Amino acid sequence: MSRCILITGASVAGNTAAWWLGHYGFDVTVVERTSEFRDGGQNIDIRGVGRDVLRRMGLQQTALDHGTGEEGTVWIDEQGGEVAKFVTVELGRDGPTAEMEILRGDLARLLYEPARNRATFRFGDRVDGIEEGADAVSVTFASGQIEQYDAVVVAEGVGSSTRELVFPQENDPRWMDLTIAYFTIPRQADDNRMWRWYNATDGRSISLRPDTHGTTRAMLSLQQPPNGEQEWTVEQQKAYMHQRFTDAGWQAHRVLAAMEKTEDFYFDVLRQVRMKRWSKERVVLTGDAAWCATPLAGIGATLAVTGGYVLASELQRGSDIGQALSAYEGAMRPMVEKGQGVPKIAPRMMNPHSRLGINLLHTVLNIASKPVIRGVANKLFASEPDGPDLSRYDELLVKIPSVC
Ligand SMILES: Cc1cc2nc3c(=O)[nH]c(=O)nc-3n(C[C@H](O)[C@H](O)[C@H](O)COP(=O)(O)OP(=O)(O)OC[C@H]3O[C@@H](n4cnc5c(N)ncnc54)[C@H](O)[C@@H]3O)c2cc1C
Repeated sequence: MSRCILITGASVAGNTAAWWLGHYGFDVTVVERTSEFRDGGQNIDIRGVGRDVLRRMGLQQTALDHGTGEEGTVWIDEQGGEVAKFVTVELGRDGPTAEMEILRGDLARLLYEPARNRATFRFGDRVDGIEEGADAVSVTFASGQIEQYDAVVVAEGVGSSTRELVFPQENDPRWMDLTIAYFTIPRQADDNRMWRWYNATDGRSISLRPDTHGTTRAMLSLQQPPNGEQEWTVEQQKAYMHQRFTDAGWQAHRVLAAMEKTEDFYFDVLRQVRMKRWSKERVVLTGDAAWCATPLAGIGATLAVTGGYVLASELQRGSDIGQALSAYEGAMRPMVEKGQGVPKIAPRMMNPHSRLGINLLHTVLNIASKPVIRGVANKLFASEPDGPDLSRYDELLVKIPSVC
């Protein structure tokens, strides 16, 4: 197996793949389009098999130590009164808040720091052209450099441009009719350790979540069909959210005022990436670039770390690239398809449009939160995902070859 690999995208999937490929002795270059490492982002969680991957990297405890400290989820009314409350330790397993809740930027950095010792990272560049040859891939970068690699791993997230370059029009996105703006706001005295979720009419919701950086993470959600908002400038996106949320009630004014000044604004018109194949000759997709399931599935980061690990391990095990990439796809497809099965009605149920719908949602959540029927509550939320059998890679944990 040839061993010089390019990874594009230095976030959760790319850094995991870099860590493992470097660990196995591959010669790895990571190219990230932003000029420096991106720290931003909000709460994401790692469940089941994803935690096993972190354990294999010796990072599980560190990730838990970097947790957001979120203790559970509470739905509240306009006055801030509690409507339904789910405390993670009382659920006995992962609920809407998982045991391992971590900020996206903290997780990506946790993976990036050790990966830097195993791979060469280059910031402020991206792939401009790609040409597959019989024995190598020739990559032209925006910087003008041209380099040869044995394989290219595309880990560029949901809007990946290299995916479009190599697999034009093959993505058949599934739009989830939900738009979310995520950003960090100053903490105020009554912000607590719970994820507070407030529903307003017209499919709007405001969430406030704790972190351990002395700030609060805000989320504005709009349940509606997409209208190209992902292509707008940040200024347009902020102005739109302002206009839509100004009369939403509860802490809308505080959140909107802080949105104007925030430095990390991430805007997502939720869509799943649906690809019939994840590789073409020597180019392979992983993480959201391959299969984005959207935050609604609750397993995006779990899939990203698992995919990065499985891909690296199959490349290490395989006798040739084609066989390795097809084993990777075979191992990941069932988990991805299950994760993408989240019903399109889910955003509408959780973000009702009418006052009557909000009252109904609150009643259901209130009943589900009662101790006597917590089993139902556990089923309502994403929990332990099934995943590939990682024991097939156990033999690789001790066999580390030398660098190419
Ligand atoms: C800044 C940021 C904030 C986020 N915030 C949240 C959040 O609050 N909640 C949530 O649920 N999910 C969030 N996500 C998405 C979440 O990280 C992913 O769903 C999940 O972790 C899968 O990660 P990934 O590595 O596959 O993709 P991503 O985390 O999306 O990372 C893709 C990486 O590739 C880089 N990239 C993109 N195009 C190119 C290119 N052409 N060349 C080189 N590099 C490229 C991006 O800059 C990014 O670093 C965020 C992602 C980012 C980048």
